[in-house]
Amino acid sequence: TLTDRLSRLVKTMRGQSRISETNVQDMLREVRMALLEADVALPVVRDFIARVKDKALGQEVVASLTPGQVLVSIVHKELAATMGEGVADLNLATQPPAVILMSGLQGSGKTTTTAKLAKHLIEKRKKKVLTVSADVYRPAAIEQLKTVTKQAGAEWFPSTPDQKPRDIALAALDHARRHYFDVLLVDTAGRLAIDEALMAEIKDLHAAINPVETLFVVDAMQGQDAINTARAFKEALPLTGVVLTKTDGDSRGGAALSVRQVAGAPIKFAGVSEKIDGLEVFDAERHAGRVLGMGDIVALVEEVQKGVDMEAAQKLAEKVKSGASFDLNDFLSQISQMKKMGGLSSLMDKLPTELAAKAGQADMDKAERDVRRMEGIINSMTQLERRKPELIKASRKRRIAAGAGVQVQDVNRLLNQFEQMQTMMKKMKGGGLMKMMKRMGG
Ligand code: GDP
Ligand code: MG
Repeated sequence: TLTDRLSRLVKTMRGQSRISETNVQDMLREVRMALLEADVALPVVRDFIARVKDKALGQEVVASLTPGQVLVSIVHKELAATMGEGVADLNLATQPPAVILMSGLQGSGKTTTTAKLAKHLIEKRKKKVLTVSADVYRPAAIEQLKTVTKQAGAEWFPSTPDQKPRDIALAALDHARRHYFDVLLVDTAGRLAIDEALMAEIKDLHAAINPVETLFVVDAMQGQDAINTARAFKEALPLTGVVLTKTDGDSRGGAALSVRQVAGAPIKFAGVSEKIDGLEVFDAERHAGRVLGMGDIVALVEEVQKGVDMEAAQKLAEKVKSGASFDLNDFLSQISQMKKMGGLSSLMDKLPTELAAKAGQADMDKAERDVRRMEGIINSMTQLERRKPELIKASRKRRIAAGAGVQVQDVNRLLNQFEQMQTMMKKMKGGGLMKMMKRMGG
C-alpha cells in the first residue's frame, strides 16, 4: 500500500536534512506505484506527481521534521486538493422546486442515495422533498424507491413501467410545483454498462426537467472502471456533483482521485453504509488520509489525548516543584502516564504523518511490554519499599521478582531507572516534566 511504501521511505530518509532532486525522485516513484495500485488513472497520476514534485522541491524542511515526513505531508495535502477542497453541499439556489437528477450505472446506489439525500435535505436543510422513479425497466425499482422514501420521511410520487421517463418526470414536477415542494429528486434507470439508448434517454430527461443538480453516483469499489463510466456520463450530461458510494467497503479509495477530475465536478457526498442515514458530506482531507492509509489522523490524535491524565501529571509536577521527594509510587504513576501517552508521544513527534509511527510499531510494542513489566514489579513491592527504595536489598529483590514473575536483574534495572529519574527530577524542578515524559514514552 501507499502507507507501507511511504513509511519505508520515511525511514530511509531519516538523517537526510534536505529535500533533494534525488530523494524526491525516489519518493515520487513510490507514490506513483502506490497510486496506480490504488486504481488511480494514469493521466491523473502523472498530473499529481508533477504537482507534488513542484511543491516539494521548493520546500524548506523544518528542523523537527525529516524530509520524508515533509514529503508525506505534501502528498497528503495534494491528495486532498485533488479530490476537492472545502465542502460542497447541494445547490438549491433556484425557483422551487429545485430538481435533482440522479445518474449512474445500475447498482451504483442511485435509489438508495436518492432516499439518503431526501433525508439529508429534510433534516439538515428543512426542505419539503418529493421523490420519483423514472426507472421503467424494472417494476421492483419503483417499489424500492417508494419503500426507502418512506423511511426517509419524504413523499413519493407514483409512476408505472408503461410510462415514458420524460412524462413521469414532468408529471412529478407539475405535482411538486402545485404542492409547494422545495425539492424533487428524480431517480433514473439502471444501466449495466454504458448504453447508447439509455444515454440518449437520460439526456432527453435532463433537457425536459432542467435540473439544478445533476449528480453522478459512482461505486467506490469500482476502481478503474469508475473512470470510464464517469467519462461517459460527463460527455452526456452537464454533471454538477458526484456521490461516491460504498466507501465503507474495502476499496482502495483511489477512484475518488480520478473521478473528481474526470467528471469535472466536486464529490459532494460519500455513502458510508447501506442504511438510510449512511451518507456523509464528502470530506477530502479525510479521504486523502484513507487513500494514504493513515485513517483519520485527527480522530486518532483526539482519542489518544483523552487517554492522558493531565491532572495527574500536573500534580506530580507540583510535587516535584515543591521539593517533596520522588518515590516509587510517583514513579509508578509516571509509568502509567507514559503508557497512556505512548501513542501520543510517538504521534506528536512524528506528525504530520502517522506513517512514521507505523514504521516504529515494533518498537512501540516493545515499549508497551516494558512498561507493563515495570508496573508489575512496583506492584509487588510493599508501600514501605516504594517510599524507601533504599531498603530493597538482595532478599527483597528476590521476593519482588518472584511476585512479579520476572528476574532479579529486571528489578535491578527498574531500580536503576528509578534512581536516574530521581536525579533528573531534583535537577529540573518539574518544569520540563511533560517534555521528559514524552521523551521516555517515545
Ligand atoms: P441503483 O441500481 O443505482 O439504484 O443502486 P441501489 O440504490 O439499488 O443500490 C445497490 C446496492 O448497493 C444496494 O444493495 C444498496 O443497499 C447498496 N448500497 C448503496 N449505497 C451503499 C453504501 O454507501 N454502502 C453500502 N455498503 N452499500 C450501499
Ligand atoms: Mg435503482
